[in-house]
Amino acid sequence: MSAADSIAVQACSLLDRVFGYRAFRGQQAEIVAHVAAGGDALVLMPTGGGKSVCYQIPALLRPGTGIVISPLIALMHDQVVALRELGIAAAYLNSSLGADEARQVERAFLAGRLKLLYVAPERLLTPRFLDLLGRAQPALFAIDEAHCVSQWGHDFRPEYLGLDVLHERFPTVPRIALTATADALTRQEIIDRLDLRTARVFATSFDRPNIRYGIVEKTDGRRQLRAFLTGHAGEAGIVYCGTRRKVEEVAAALAAEGMRALPYHAGLAAETRRRHQDRFLREEGIIMVATIAFGMGIDKPDVRFVAHLDLPRSVEGYYQETGRAGRDGQPAEAWMAWGLQDVATQRRFIAESEMAEAQKRIAQAKLDALLGLVETAGCRRQALLAYFGEASAPCGNCDNCLDPPTLWDATEAARKALSAVYRTGQRFGAGHVIDVLLGKATDKVSQWGHERLTVFGIGGELDARRWRGVIRQLTVRGLLTVDHGEHGALRLTEAARPLLRGEERLMIRAPATRQKNKTRRAQPTTGADHDLFERLRVWRRRLAGEKGVPAYVILHDTTLREIADRRPASLDELERVPGIGARKLEAYGQAILKVVAEGNGGADGA
Ligand code: ADP
Ligand code: ZN
Repeated sequence: MSAADSIAVQACSLLDRVFGYRAFRGQQAEIVAHVAAGGDALVLMPTGGGKSVCYQIPALLRPGTGIVISPLIALMHDQVVALRELGIAAAYLNSSLGADEARQVERAFLAGRLKLLYVAPERLLTPRFLDLLGRAQPALFAIDEAHCVSQWGHDFRPEYLGLDVLHERFPTVPRIALTATADALTRQEIIDRLDLRTARVFATSFDRPNIRYGIVEKTDGRRQLRAFLTGHAGEAGIVYCGTRRKVEEVAAALAAEGMRALPYHAGLAAETRRRHQDRFLREEGIIMVATIAFGMGIDKPDVRFVAHLDLPRSVEGYYQETGRAGRDGQPAEAWMAWGLQDVATQRRFIAESEMAEAQKRIAQAKLDALLGLVETAGCRRQALLAYFGEASAPCGNCDNCLDPPTLWDATEAARKALSAVYRTGQRFGAGHVIDVLLGKATDKVSQWGHERLTVFGIGGELDARRWRGVIRQLTVRGLLTVDHGEHGALRLTEAARPLLRGEERLMIRAPATRQKNKTRRAQPTTGADHDLFERLRVWRRRLAGEKGVPAYVILHDTTLREIADRRPASLDELERVPGIGARKLEAYGQAILKVVAEGNGGADGA
């Protein structure tokens, strides 16, 4: 057998024995073989795709200790507990450890007793740790959340820039960088800054077929959110808001209505943040209302929805944030409500920021790409994947596929709106322009004598809301700009000319005529015995409580569901359930069989 074949056989056997999975998914097998043989790799895989085994198995196959660099100190503990649950010798080093504990870990590392060691990047870069690395035997370096090296992204961590030292100091140790963010720009930055030019790139499809995308126009955000949440009663999810204040308000409002909602943003005390994150991970059905400060590395598998009450910054941001839903592969929902105000706020934010001009242009282009996604009348997934350079067919699992929007020809209306902006001197915001179009005799109108303009009252065919929609479209498409120095005054741009000259038409989405409640509950489709599933969950919750770990560290929902479905009667049968490896079988096998048998007895006797 060739060396490569032998690695492949060993890898499969570990996957089965240790992790309880029968087969590698997608490119996992190739990645594992490549890294185990000493190659560098850049792995671009969506959240939930199964990145962890791509470095965990090579670490088990190679002599020495796999070093995992992760920015997520708060989560290292759970990750390590999960590995120990699988029978893997793992530890972590970060600022949360006392000096004694840290020394113990260092000793174990030096003595070659660890297979995996998680370290925070700032720790890794200390002279002490680099020296330790020189004396111990690193099996590989796994750089998790590698997009943190990107200065354009909101997860930027300056310490990541120092990680190129690894290649300099340890040129023969393979490196594997992993991320779920991978637009072309970020990808190139990772390669450049981490010195991965010769690494093999493994790009997996970014599709998350179990996530249903839906984007609505914001009319009354809070009310729309409540309607959305009624479709997800009792489920865990994240609600993203643009500002800390809004986070506080929304969390309080939901809590006042009896929902289990908690706030999370960078302005809260570290202790509060930790406690809320912990509850979100450990308890069931918590709604985290948060800014984007929350979420990176949250590997809770059963987040059933991610809602955006404000527009994210970019398609990458949106994709990453929504990607936190449904890691377990079960149906999940990504929902967003957005409005013109969001666009104006972000444009102002970019314009007024300290960024260099080139950076501002990138930020602007990213926002425009996102607007393209929210405005599209076509398949959301198709647009999303196209952004990541992937061609696909309409998905059948997004709002536009399930309920295709009707389009209307807004060319005439757009012309009227543009004229009204122009005739009023390009110094007023949307509110006043609409008043003029509708012929409203407001104080402002008489103050400026606008009732004498030819455009006064020419827009009676639409109501204010529809006009707002038209103006939003014109803004989104760049025919109008909003001048923030002038209290949101609308101005025409060069791009408006073709439409004014009749060379271009404007087709836009017709507004929804009624508030459709499309949030059909995402139902597990396995046909699992629900009662048994619930009893398994109760058993798992008790055990997780005793051990002080999140429930999914014991077993995932998907595994419990499989058990409920198959009702195994023996350890042999149980072992065949995906997610049950040797260690879990040994630790929990009997207890699980007992829970299953109790159910059988009850059903038979009835
Ligand atoms: P990522 O880090 O890419 O978001 P994880 O490594 O956490 O994803 O894996 C996501 C889920 O998929 C986990 O529940 C993991 O146990 C499971 N998984 C990974 N690889 C396999 C496989 N080959 N077969 C079945 N399940 C897998
Ligand atoms: Zn679709």
